[in-house]
Amino acid sequence: MSGDIEQTMRGPQAYTIVRKAIELMEKHRVWPTPLNFELWSHFVADPDGALAKELNRLISAGEPMTENVSEELAAAYLAKARLNEQIRDAGDKLTQELASVAKAIQTAQKSTHAYGQTLAGASVDLGAATDPTTLKKMVETLASATDRVQKQNTSLEQRLSDSTTEVARLREHLEQVRRDATTDGLTNLANRKAFDEELAKACADADEQGGALTLAVLDIDHFKNFNDTWGHQTGDQVIRFVASVIGRVGATPRFAARYGGEEFAMIFPGEDAAIVEACLEEIREEVASRMLKRRSTNEDLGTITISSGLAQRRPGETGSCTIERADAALYVSKRSGRNRVTNGEQVASVAA
Ligand code: GH3
Ligand code: MG
Ligand code: MG
Repeated sequence: MSGDIEQTMRGPQAYTIVRKAIELMEKHRVWPTPLNFELWSHFVADPDGALAKELNRLISAGEPMTENVSEELAAAYLAKARLNEQIRDAGDKLTQELASVAKAIQTAQKSTHAYGQTLAGASVDLGAATDPTTLKKMVETLASATDRVQKQNTSLEQRLSDSTTEVARLREHLEQVRRDATTDGLTNLANRKAFDEELAKACADADEQGGALTLAVLDIDHFKNFNDTWGHQTGDQVIRFVASVIGRVGATPRFAARYGGEEFAMIFPGEDAAIVEACLEEIREEVASRMLKRRSTNEDLGTITISSGLAQRRPGETGSCTIERADAALYVSKRSGRNRVTNGEQVASVAA
């Protein structure tokens, strides 16, 4: 939660807010999942905030509060605040760690310096000393100074080794935060933000190396009907299934993402339209041939199909232009009966 609301939730109104949030979730038929709980607590705690406005809009539009809607709201209104906080925390910890290591090194340097002085003094005194008592005393002084420096070094070594572990842990944590921010929660595919970034990179690479770059857009057919018939939760399972097929075909160096609700997008670096067309055909066949069953009841859900469109990037063209042409090709697939692949390079109206 963002800072102010975090504080409110520890204040005198906290329980009232939470009760109201539960009441509203029940009223609007929203499951009290942890995510929804956070969203609706925000709604009550900050009724004039951007999230509350959007929720109000969805409620008055009569939109069903599906898991997907919740996730999108969280991504838009909660994730950013949370992410920034996490990154700041990790950064603070790293700074603290580095400061404490610097201090340990400084202390060690000081004691090494003092040791050097003890040694230098001793070598002068040794030249002058002759009687055994003085010599014995000097050796004892040297031995204890050596012992001190050795201990100091051992403790510095330990400190550095602890610190290396801690820095590795922080790095792993930051990596996890970054992964969460670029992954779609329902399907584990990359999300749209990650796709846009990857596309920009792929375009730059293609310009630099002069290679081909082909993009595809895939969309589940008549999915609204499917949801209306079987419910959103079963719909979500189907989205996961389609994502798994797409993810397999779109493995590195290709790239696959959930672009929106029941829509996916793929990047094929260095591959020509004809090869991409064959890949999409393979995905189409695999999806269409699967007999779907509802997990909980084993009920037969029939089959679903997907339509797709592809376009090859023209040198110097922006990624979004190519996506637009792939989208236009998808639209041709939809218009001409669905459950098909349209190669935008071979359709005059799309290529124009
Ligand atoms: P078309 O063949 O033209 O693509 O028809 P369609 O019904 O698939 O397309 P439309 O854009 O009219 O509706 C998309 C539907 O996808 C609306 C919504 O119910 C469903 N949907 C979008 N995101 C999700 C999601 O995350 N989970 C579920 N279960 N359904 C979703
Ligand atoms: Mg659709
Ligand atoms: Mg769609």
